[in-house]
Amino acid sequence: MAFTLYNTLGRELQAFKPIREGKVGFYGCGPTVYDYAHIGNLRAYTVHDILVRFLRRAGFEVTHVMNITDVGHLSGDNDEGDDKMIKSAEERGKSVLEIADFYTKAFFLDTARLNIQRPTVVCRATEHIGDMISLIRRIEERGFTYSAGGNLYFDTAKFPSYGELALLRPDELKHGARVEVDENKRNLTDFVLWFTKSKFENQALVWDSPWGRGYPGWHIECSAMSLKYLGEQFDIHAGGIDHVSIHHTNEIAQSEAATGKHPWVRYWFHNEFLVLNKGKMSKSAGDFLTLQSLIDSGYDPLDYRYFLLGGHYRSQLQFSWEGLLGAKNARKSLLDRIKNLAEKAGQVPPPAGAENPAESAGGGHEGAYLDAFNRALEEDLSTPRALAELWGLLRDNSLESTAVLTAAFDMDQVLGLGLREAVETAREKEPEDEVREIERLIAERKEAKQAKDFTRADSIRQALKDRGIILEDGPVETKWRRL
Ligand code: AMP
Ligand code: ZN
Repeated sequence: MAFTLYNTLGRELQAFKPIREGKVGFYGCGPTVYDYAHIGNLRAYTVHDILVRFLRRAGFEVTHVMNITDVGHLSGDNDEGDDKMIKSAEERGKSVLEIADFYTKAFFLDTARLNIQRPTVVCRATEHIGDMISLIRRIEERGFTYSAGGNLYFDTAKFPSYGELALLRPDELKHGARVEVDENKRNLTDFVLWFTKSKFENQALVWDSPWGRGYPGWHIECSAMSLKYLGEQFDIHAGGIDHVSIHHTNEIAQSEAATGKHPWVRYWFHNEFLVLNKGKMSKSAGDFLTLQSLIDSGYDPLDYRYFLLGGHYRSQLQFSWEGLLGAKNARKSLLDRIKNLAEKAGQVPPPAGAENPAESAGGGHEGAYLDAFNRALEEDLSTPRALAELWGLLRDNSLESTAVLTAAFDMDQVLGLGLREAVETAREKEPEDEVREIERLIAERKEAKQAKDFTRADSIRQALKDRGIILEDGPVETKWRRL
């Protein structure tokens, strides 16, 4: 397979060649679990999922590592602002760990609903403080650190290739090029490895370290955990485009300073943003959409997955309700077509595998669509083109139904639209399902109210009302009736 991938390091398409034959080490920056993931974040994880599924289908053994940030991430990536976890815990009257647990569960519920495969390793920052301390010691021993104002800093001036990933110019690295917020920093781009002088009086999570009691800077966790689980050099590191200039730039500096090995990571894979009304998605602007809010508005999570597949990962994607409705309708036609074919074929072909390799290769004319589908993905993961090939295959009436289904299911190993499941479990939604769903939403609204998340509680009430269901709050329980 000739797979070409765009590498942010070097800004060019490059032929993909793993370090160890047949194996791929993949690290994707995971969520900061202080709130629900928004649908922009979920674009990043869906894109990672497509890449991992594609590599697995091509025969690679992929180790996918994802971190969970539950300490040390400030609202500004450059050591500025509030601590996201502490702020959220305070606002919700919970402990930091309770908040982390709650939103980690919510995150994996969202990713499961989007048919995103669970990473091979999921690692929490607070469970790897020892690894971070050992890594900082290595960086220190090699002379890349200094202490100032009670914190330990990385001295970016000592790392000659600093900023290579982000194409930072040397004059952008000098002190004073921008209003400096931390006077302890020798260079504008220096960053904290370990905080001892807490910025926050109420810092909940602190650990002993050679530099005093404190907590790690944000960037060190990704270096420490990826080195631990993937080795000192690995193949692909992924994240959103916003991480290029600071977070990933700092990760490279730390990791290469500690190991002395270059390049730490072969391919840097960055997804562009999902944008709303040409702006960045932000909580303050009230345009913070979660997967649940799409579900409450009557969409299936896979409608959103389909919507995402319609954009190339390196292009900005504009979210709109019309666009999502278009995706919903297209996915419905897709499933109708698949069910139709299954009826015609009279059976659902078994999964391609060791017993029936010929079918998975697509021996007939359907093979041409499979080839084009593979080529689209091999050329920097073009999901829009891949999706078009799936449609071409399904619309081609000259092909035999079983062969078409086999090829479509094969393609769906990467697309993850649940095509096989749709025919295997096809049945009409029963009324009991609806009652169960309403009761689940009422319970969720109760939980939201208890967590003082009134926006969410109101949005559930409104979503039910839009479906003709009226809620009546009594002293003990909430009853519902149809309009
Ligand atoms: P965070 O939980 O803020 O660390 O973000 C999780 C992931 O989502 C990171 O890889 C971000 O780069 C990515 N991300 C954040 N906002 C967006 C967006 N609007 N569209 C796509 N990816 C995003
Ligand atoms: Zn990271």
